[in-house]
Amino acid sequence: MSAARPVQPPPRPGGPHSVRGSPVSVALPLPTRGAPSPGRDIPTDSPTDSPTDTHCPYCSFQCGITLVAGSRPATLQPQEDFPTNRGGLCSKGWNATELLDHPDRLLTPLVRAVPGDRSSALRPATWDEALGRVVDGITASQQRYGRDSIGVFGGGGLTNEKAYSLGKFARVALRTAMIDYNGRFCMSSSATAGNKAFGVDRGMPFPVSDIGETAAILLVGANPADTMPPAMQWFDAGRAAGAQHIVVDPRRTSTAQGASVHLRPTPGTDLALANGLLHLAIREGYVDQAYIDARTTGFAAVRAGVRSFWPDRVERITGIAVDDLRRTVQILAEAPSAMILTARGAEQHSNGTDTAQAFINLALALGLPGKPFSGYGTITGQGNGQGGREHGQKADQLPGYRRLDDPAARAHVAAVWGIDPAELPRPGKSAFEMLDAIGTPDGVRVLMVMASNLVVSAPDANRVADRLAALDLLVVSDIFLSETAARADVVLPTAQWAEEEGTMTNFEGRVIHRRQALPPPAGVLDDLQLMIELARRLDRGQYFSADPRTVFDELRRASAGGIADYAGISYERIDAEQGVFWPCPTDEHPGTPRMFLERFPTPDGRARFIRVEHRDPAEMPDADYPFALTTGRLLTQYQSGTQTRRNNARMVPDPCVQLHPDLARGQGIGAGDIVEVRTRRGAARFRAQLDDGIRRDTVFVPFHWGGASNANTLTLAALDPYSRMPEFKVCAAALERVGDSDDTHLLQQVPERPVAVTARRPTRPPSTAARVRSPSRPQSTSPITSSTSKGSRMHTKNRFLQGIYAFTGQGIDKPAVLHADLTYLVPDGSVAQALYFRGGNTSDELVVAVLMRDGVPMRYFPIGAKSDVHIPLRVVEDMEGGTAVELYLAAPDGVSGTVVLDLGLVEV
Ligand code: SF4
Repeated sequence: MSAARPVQPPPRPGGPHSVRGSPVSVALPLPTRGAPSPGRDIPTDSPTDSPTDTHCPYCSFQCGITLVAGSRPATLQPQEDFPTNRGGLCSKGWNATELLDHPDRLLTPLVRAVPGDRSSALRPATWDEALGRVVDGITASQQRYGRDSIGVFGGGGLTNEKAYSLGKFARVALRTAMIDYNGRFCMSSSATAGNKAFGVDRGMPFPVSDIGETAAILLVGANPADTMPPAMQWFDAGRAAGAQHIVVDPRRTSTAQGASVHLRPTPGTDLALANGLLHLAIREGYVDQAYIDARTTGFAAVRAGVRSFWPDRVERITGIAVDDLRRTVQILAEAPSAMILTARGAEQHSNGTDTAQAFINLALALGLPGKPFSGYGTITGQGNGQGGREHGQKADQLPGYRRLDDPAARAHVAAVWGIDPAELPRPGKSAFEMLDAIGTPDGVRVLMVMASNLVVSAPDANRVADRLAALDLLVVSDIFLSETAARADVVLPTAQWAEEEGTMTNFEGRVIHRRQALPPPAGVLDDLQLMIELARRLDRGQYFSADPRTVFDELRRASAGGIADYAGISYERIDAEQGVFWPCPTDEHPGTPRMFLERFPTPDGRARFIRVEHRDPAEMPDADYPFALTTGRLLTQYQSGTQTRRNNARMVPDPCVQLHPDLARGQGIGAGDIVEVRTRRGAARFRAQLDDGIRRDTVFVPFHWGGASNANTLTLAALDPYSRMPEFKVCAAALERVGDSDDTHLLQQVPERPVAVTARRPTRPPSTAARVRSPSRPQSTSPITSSTSKGSRMHTKNRFLQGIYAFTGQGIDKPAVLHADLTYLVPDGSVAQALYFRGGNTSDELVVAVLMRDGVPMRYFPIGAKSDVHIPLRVVEDMEGGTAVELYLAAPDGVSGTVVLDLGLVEV
């Protein structure tokens, strides 16, 4: 372990002040600067030139780094012995110090030149003026519209101390129910599923090192090779030792390239995949009945629920071949240890909770949770995504993962805070619901945003921007003028990661220490200082502290006895033990690296199976929007890009849309062309990147950009009924090439919003047989575009061999031409595929329709006596240009009747 190298932070105004029942009023000496700094005003007399052990500011892996920040430029090195990254860092981490001295840094508050007029310029202001506008706005709004007219929007990057204080600030200083945070857009589905099944939400119930030890992993919707590369050392160690990894992703990502098996499901079908795997596990005798009997409840209902997910059906829904389904189950079930890990690809759906639940069901049936190097986990995304959702930023939550609607929880936390439980508001609205209600009678009128760029990160971003425009007052605290801050009435500069002290909880549930390496620039407050100053002006300052250690001590008391119990965790223990895993209820408790070894934290100690059903995504591809759009992250960028887009230009690629070459060819798009992606909600532009590893019916865009390339202008705000997670990961989109590779300027021009087109009936009718999509092996069809499609040229055609015909048989073994119309010649340069066959037969005998290819039988379709059939053709074969396709009929000699024949083909 690295020796802790504590620095002596500068004296912080405020000091320790929040003591139960004995609040102390404080007043901060506010910076008085009111003029903009011509450049960075970084003190050169930082507290020390000696190294400071701290953590990367970005993702939930929270790599240990050693920072030297006293001299400029600041430098950093990865900590070789920090137990997660062990000397590894990704490019984001290596470049994190660039932002400390960045010229875009906000160094003074900004206010509108004309109060209330957002078309007027933002101008520098003193803190006194800026905070005065905020407090006046809050006070006036609450007097006129009530306490809940104020909303607070937090972030999953805030330290535990700030997240805790923000929740308390909303409930105690503002006394509003309206607080939620951007983690609702990140982790909420798996968190909800974990709580339902296990009685607790800790993303990974085991240390990351267990990944290197397990014999098999099913990784669903995660791409750690790009999002947290140092984590790959653990995956690589497992693979080197012979572990089999199965990656589920519609794209052949860097992570998928190294896997034993790569499954490419149709976006939005992961739940059906999980149910299908469980069906196979049951059918093939792989379930661990002893484990199920001893440690779980509810299996019978789940077993009945997956009975209908037979492999052929699951193949049709997901596009994953039956053989691959079987192989996946076999690998997981026969391995001596196995994990199922999900991430946003599986979870950011309107059925995200149920999808996570379905994979938990599979893990429980295989007897994995609580066994060595085994279990179910979810890979949290944001830096403090785990801790940020434990201590009160959520609309329904109090610290320690307590519920705001639980009287005992309210009493406990109110006692710690020194208030009457009756003063605590009731649960408020979830993140998107709070945003979407703005401008309505029930909506908030003043919104305070901390560490979140929701104009870029929220779904259906145009709609969110419209809602924000309806606010009476928008206040944003950030380090840069983000797209959201640029729309604000008041912008408040804040401290960066290396300028503050606090704790974070990484994706393993390990509480770590973010040490301060330098003070914030002159004129900048950190968020704890901001909150206490605002609270003081609202006559509630006595309940708050600006000292992070004092706040953490209070958080420990508030969380004591809760699900996420931090009572035994201290800064000193974190330093001495390289982090402490919660729950840790006492000073003597060792912490809990591995959970569920003996029991689950449910009332009866058992995990709960929960039956879940597949549902189609809220929006399916159709004639107007024929492709499945999915979104995600890139290696060099982080979240809304507020920070990483300001890195050195070599770190910032053009925003790209990833397309299969066949799909691009059909749309007349070449590599590097500028492409406009459109959905019913918006349009955005990207540079085309062709990749044959992505499904032919799917396009991928990253969500790190605002302006012309804001991916979330495209996404859909259909919410999961339990977690209120929006459906970020799939919607229907259309494409148009708008420029060639030299037309880079088009990436700066925000496209017009599309004229709304009412959703048509999907070209892929819901579920099972009627859900026609390109099967995964091989994926040879492109989505069907009708000749009436707007904004995209026709690139596929439907062809039919169909009609009603009388016949007289010549022998059941003698197929013969029935009618000249039942012939089709595939045009040169095209490829055709048969999609389905339907047939009906009025005679009293079995007849057989025969699909002929160049005069040779290709498929036989028996139609029973006085019967009909419908046969989806899931095994797709290309028929090249020049191929003669015909339908023949065979019937017993002398038998007469009438047949209805309908063969559907697609021509590409
Ligand atoms: S972004 Fe994540 S993986 Fe990369 S250095 Fe930072 S904490 Fe580590």
